[in-house]
Order: sequence, then structure tokens, then C-alpha cells
Amino acid sequence: MANKKNPILYIVVPCYNEEKVLPITSVMFFDKIKELVDAGKIDKKSRVMFVNDGSKDETWNIISDLAKNNEVCEGISLSRNRGHQNALLGGLMEAKEYADITISIDCDGQDDINAMNEMVDKYLEGYEVVYGVRAKRDTDTFFKRFTAEGFYVLLNKLGGEVVFNHADYRLMSKKVLDEFANFEEVNLFLRGMVPLVGFKSTSVYYDRHERLAGESHYPLTKMLSLAFDGITSLSVKPIRFITGLGVVVAFLSFIGVIWSVVQALMGNTVSGWASTVCIICFLSGVQLIALGVIGEYIGKIYMETKHRPRFIISERTYAEKDQH
Ligand code: UDP
Ligand code: MG
Repeated sequence: MANKKNPILYIVVPCYNEEKVLPITSVMFFDKIKELVDAGKIDKKSRVMFVNDGSKDETWNIISDLAKNNEVCEGISLSRNRGHQNALLGGLMEAKEYADITISIDCDGQDDINAMNEMVDKYLEGYEVVYGVRAKRDTDTFFKRFTAEGFYVLLNKLGGEVVFNHADYRLMSKKVLDEFANFEEVNLFLRGMVPLVGFKSTSVYYDRHERLAGESHYPLTKMLSLAFDGITSLSVKPIRFITGLGVVVAFLSFIGVIWSVVQALMGNTVSGWASTVCIICFLSGVQLIALGVIGEYIGKIYMETKHRPRFIISERTYAEKDQH
């Protein structure tokens, strides 16, 4: 280790209306940096970077004061509230200019800050991404646990690769963030996008606590919209579902057509009934299949518009050419 430089760590913390909890947790973050520096694991240029996400309370004043009085504290403020995912991305993109590694964490003390030690250890072992995974969800309500865990299962079934029970508490190296910057989409679901970047990754497990103070900013509506973003950001399978449905309806319609013709021939129907049923059956099948086909193309266009990188090189046997 002696000849290897210790990494500069930036802890990136999005904050929205967190005046109640910030005075409590900020100190914990500062202490953690100090502890890791003293342990000789990270460089003393390591910092805590708070991202004020357009808060309407005293959050930004608190961050500014902390930054004045404490050299490990830095803050940036977004011009307005842009939501957790955007705030976090903003913080990570800012931090990567100064840091070798970043750890993103919420500012409410729910995620066990001590898991950072293990995250940094894993990085020093050679991992570029370390996911913080909740070992237990005891502190969540049954409803939140059921919906959240069900969501991870559904998303994986739909083809989106997400780490089970991992939210946004993770370590990412500068290398990964530099590649991440090439994902230009605006519909953000970070925990689903990080696995797309690749690189050597692992998980560390921790217990999730209650919020230390203040209130959650993720009511059901926001949770649903994040879940919807997650699915639509990672998967076009819902569109494919329409095509499948079209095929099923077309098949049923085919049976319906035969059935109505048979009924008509047997004289069980009033005149005009069979032809009407035939037309309805035929058209509904054709329409759904046609919609599905159009949907397939829209799905492709959607994926194209994201301009995601098609590949990322993680290692070379030679130094990058522009370094020569
Ligand atoms: N947050 C944010 N912008 C928002 C909403 C939330 O930056 O519009 C931050 C918030 O300050 C916290 C984190 O995102 O640090 C997670 O929010 P919260 O703890 O309210 O969500 P929960 O843990 O209840 O899901
Ligand atoms: Mg929280």
C-alpha cells in the first residue's frame, strides 16, 4: 500500500428540505471521513459534498454554514427542485472532477454509514462499483417492503437488471462515473443504469434504520413514478406485451368468426349478427397486432434516443494512446 496513493473519497448527499436531520447526520459524515483518513484508507483531500435540491427551508443556509466552518464540507445547490435522482447525478458529476471514488447516500441517516468502511475496503481490493444492499427491512412498513421487493422482482422479470434491495447507497469509482457521464438520458433510474455501465462490482450488506429526523419525501405517488421510470427506462417489454396480446386476441377472434358462422348456418341468429361479430373480431385482432408492431418500432426509437454507449472498454494492455 505504501507506494499506492490513497484514493480521494467524496461522499455525495442529496438534500431536500432536510433542516431537521442535517445538523445530526452531517457530523456523522464528517467523522466518517476523519476516521477513514486516520485509518490510512483515504486521502485527506476527501470531502462530503451536499447537494441542495432546491429546498424551501433552511437546508442551504445550514450547508453553507457547515462549509464555512469545516474544511471537509462542500456544497452545491441546484437552481430548483429536480428530484432525488437528478440531484444525486448532479452531485456525482461534480464530485468526479475531484474524487477518485464517490459514495452516494441519503442524508437522513437511514443507511448505515459504517458500511462505508467495507465499501472502501472492497474498492481497495479492486472493485469499481460497490452496492449497499439492505440485509433486513425491519424498519420499513409491511406495505413499503412488499411493494418495494415486489418491484425488484417485476423489474428483473421484465429484463431490467437491478440489484435486489439496493437503493442509491453505493460506491462508484471515477472510472465508472466517467463512463456513466455518457449515458445522456433524462429519464433517470440510477440503480438500474449503473449495472449497464458494467465493471467489476460487488455488494456489502447493512441494516437499514429509521429516519433520524424529519419526514420522508417519497410518498406513494413518488414511489410509483420512480417505479414507472425504472420499468420504462430499462425495458420495452410492456410494448411487446401488446403484440402478444394482439396474437392472442387474433386467435380468439378466429374462433369467434368460425363460431358465429356456424351459428348463422344453423339458423340460431338474427340476420346481420354473424357478419357484425366477424367484423368486430377480425378488426380487434388486426388492430392490436398492428399496434404491437408499431410499438416495437417505437420501443426501438425510444432506446435509440437515449444515445447510450454501445460498449465500454474497461481495461487495455497498453496505455491509452492520447497519453503517449
Ligand atoms: N431528496 C432529494 N430531492 C427530492 C426528494 C428527496 O434530494 O426531491 C433526497 C432527500 O433529502 C434524501 C433522499 O433524497 O436525502 C431520500 O429521500 P427520503 O429519505 O425522503 O426517501 P425515503 O428514504 O423515505 O425513501
Ligand atoms: Mg430516507
